[in-house]
Amino acid sequence: MTRPFNFSAGPAALPEEVLQQAASEMLDWHGSGMSVMEMSHRGKEFISIYEHAEADFRELMAVPQNFKILFMQGGGLAENAIVPLNLSRGGAADFVVTGSWSNKSQKEARKYCDVQIAATNEGSQHTSIPAPGSWQLRGDASYVHVCTNETIDGLEFHDLPDLKALGCDAPLVIDFSSHVASRAVDWSRVGLAFGGAQKNLGPAGVTLVVVREDLLGHALAICPSAFNYKTVADSGSMYNTPPTYSIYIAGLTFQWLKRQQEGDASGIAAIEKRNIAKARLLYDAIDNSALYFNPVSQDCRSRMNVPFFLRDASRNEAFLAGAKARELLQLKGHKSVGGMRASLYNAMPLAGVQALVRYLQEFEQQHA
Ligand SMILES: *Cc1c(COP(=O)(O)O)cnc(C)c1O
Repeated sequence: MTRPFNFSAGPAALPEEVLQQAASEMLDWHGSGMSVMEMSHRGKEFISIYEHAEADFRELMAVPQNFKILFMQGGGLAENAIVPLNLSRGGAADFVVTGSWSNKSQKEARKYCDVQIAATNEGSQHTSIPAPGSWQLRGDASYVHVCTNETIDGLEFHDLPDLKALGCDAPLVIDFSSHVASRAVDWSRVGLAFGGAQKNLGPAGVTLVVVREDLLGHALAICPSAFNYKTVADSGSMYNTPPTYSIYIAGLTFQWLKRQQEGDASGIAAIEKRNIAKARLLYDAIDNSALYFNPVSQDCRSRMNVPFFLRDASRNEAFLAGAKARELLQLKGHKSVGGMRASLYNAMPLAGVQALVRYLQEFEQQHA
């Protein structure tokens, strides 16, 4: 069976090999007689699944030993509250607003701390990233929040900001929900990273948090125990029942990522290389057309989420119907911005982007 190419922004396509393996293990995981869904989270079977998932992510992403990897619940939106509850100490926190998600984050954090917008790209309608040198960072900020891939607006930080080089000692918090594991991370620049799994790792329900150990243990008294990073870290993410099946699928995805090869590159380096090639192919097709456009500056275009617009929006419905007929699914843009969006997460093969580009060209010829 060949499956359609699914460009959903999230929950998004998973590698077919992962789905096949999960299907084959659904009724009986490794001779245990149980589905992973039916296991105690404290039994040896699930503990081994959990430990492998954590170790594989650490190896894959080269996470240093002084960072904890937590598997939590609540998604990226809950982290918008959980981060200030744990890190702000009720004081100051600086936010860089580059699109819808970072804007949501700063609004939520206002409930718990003194929020300042250090920089915003509102003036450019969220099409460029303000140069880090221009950010207004406060000396007493407890952390600086950046969304490193704006899923709706299609902006990505191709390099993480180096706060130390800007004279700022505050830890950098990154929301990497929609490009986690799509490329390497320079952990020397990061204090905490969080991301929901449903874009690039697995099913909805598990949220990955990677946090430097020295940031643990400073939660506000009102912080719910299940959301206190130290409590979660001390209990190996088992303070309460973790989202076991989602962790299992994320673990299979980590193993799939470790197997990836592109030329001499393997693992994350391989997937990053492929992601760069996929994004280039699609952006080139958009830029070389008279019918479609993408408004984002070249230097910060997202490799994962490619919003594009038809110059004549009255053709949107025809475009989507034709795409569906060619088994190119979920290309409709986010309701807040309209147009189209193609999400090219790790599980999207180059062949899927090639099929989309052929369709873009065909549709343009028909409507020239
Ligand atoms: C999807 C997304 C979120 C929200 O995740 P939920 O799991 O729905 O809470 C947060 N940040 C970014 C960048 C996202 O792409």
